[in-house]
Amino acid sequence: MPAPNIDTIVSLAKRRGFVFPSSEIYGGLGSAWDYGPLGVELCNNVKQSWWRWLVYDRDDIEGIDSSIILNRLVWKYSGHEATFHDPLVDCRECKSRMRADKLEGYFPEGNTQAAFDANARLRAGLVKCANCGSTNLTDERYFNMMFRTTLGAAAAEDDPSALAYLRPETAQGIFINFLNVQTTMRRKIPFGIAQVGKSFRNEITPGNFILRTREFEQMEMEYFVKPDEEHFKLVDEWVELYVEWFKGLGIDAANLKLHEVPEKELAHYSKRTVDIMYRYFPERPEEERQWEELMGIAYRTDFDLRSHSSKATDAEGNRVNADSTDDLSFFDESTKQRFYPHVIEPAAGVNRTVLAVLMDAYSEKTNDKGETRVILKLSPQLAPIKAAILPLAKNKPEIVGMAKAIKRALQPVLRAVYDDTGGIGKLYARQDEIGTPFCVTVDHQSLEDEAVTVRDRDTWEQERVKVSDLAEHLQKRLKPYPVTPPEPV
Ligand code: ATP
Repeated sequence: MPAPNIDTIVSLAKRRGFVFPSSEIYGGLGSAWDYGPLGVELCNNVKQSWWRWLVYDRDDIEGIDSSIILNRLVWKYSGHEATFHDPLVDCRECKSRMRADKLEGYFPEGNTQAAFDANARLRAGLVKCANCGSTNLTDERYFNMMFRTTLGAAAAEDDPSALAYLRPETAQGIFINFLNVQTTMRRKIPFGIAQVGKSFRNEITPGNFILRTREFEQMEMEYFVKPDEEHFKLVDEWVELYVEWFKGLGIDAANLKLHEVPEKELAHYSKRTVDIMYRYFPERPEEERQWEELMGIAYRTDFDLRSHSSKATDAEGNRVNADSTDDLSFFDESTKQRFYPHVIEPAAGVNRTVLAVLMDAYSEKTNDKGETRVILKLSPQLAPIKAAILPLAKNKPEIVGMAKAIKRALQPVLRAVYDDTGGIGKLYARQDEIGTPFCVTVDHQSLEDEAVTVRDRDTWEQERVKVSDLAEHLQKRLKPYPVTPPEPV
């Protein structure tokens, strides 16, 4: 049973230290969130799982970490300065400002590929305000979503030579380093480059907790292939691999679905995009409104490498880039051919993955007293804490000492905490609610038999285990690699 809605997760996340509204003591900052002690661990575990799966388990992907602020020319030639914008409309009735293409009635029904006049539809009253339902909306106008900043202490606010942007995607940092990585790591096509990091978009309508925020984290990978590959098929293969990865994180396949992005909605660089959607809104009665994008897998062609290259030309033979000092083409020794590699890009969001994982792990269970308890059935690899060591009597120094010693001994092997801040029932309930797979209880008997009780989060079954066997016992049950790495493409 996943969470019934996002609000259930918002309150659990705040109550238990996963995610807090940002800048709360100053009234908050629209749709900004801070990750607390458990949230940061969960995010790190998601990122580590992804990195291990792509960069370590496979042999054809390298990792990098590029700057967040890049030369402005990167965004000129990537097309973001000219085209990274969303359509914006205002409601004349309730004064809300919204992203037009997310509104009911914006796209004509039926033939979704055909071009259409959005303003004609807005004026005809076919598009509805998401807030009040009115159709009295302004024409749409385009709004560039890149955050602007100025570089250098002396720069005037409006000095164009000092203008820079916070990156709206991590991908461009990969493209501009394509040759650096390929030559230093002596890579041949195909190979991939992965990067995890913050991206920034001045979203018109952020919202729904950590689903859409202006500052977020991406896990992007650019997989470089030959121009004559079957690119659409490669998109399908990566989609399948990612669905398996999400399932390995504990997400139920019934809450995932694929969405082929219609041609007219494709980003400027994409020839084909398939989104993996998650059921973030199970409470909505209409099935088709329950889904939102978890990640996208795009075929970006050779668009980016060509755009950043000094020698690439357009159909008329004109250079496409007057500023680049290098050519990002690849020379294939085996065929003696030079080409611009084509790219398949799986782009996932850390925050949307974390939200999907939390929603899917949420469950409730009734105890013998008829009380309902929340259990967060997180996959053990993602659980912020793997084992909580609890003393049955906190006023008994020998028991407390033994529990603390067990915590210290386990820590190098797995993330463990010591907790004596309540009665044992409360402590169990708290660990269940934050997804800790095992509670280890030290009692009076432990002082004599050198054994502890290991309690399982999901079944509440208890087992007596010798302290000397504890680390191995827990490790076996946690299985450090529970996700079988899918076969390489
Ligand atoms: P959407 O249309 O939902 O805003 P997008 O199609 O613009 O998303 P991409 O450019 O494909 O998103 O970015 C890849 C991934 O990065 C998304 O699938 C999502 O997981 C994440 N992402 C993008 N924008 C945001 C955001 N504003 N907040 C949180 N995550 C985001």
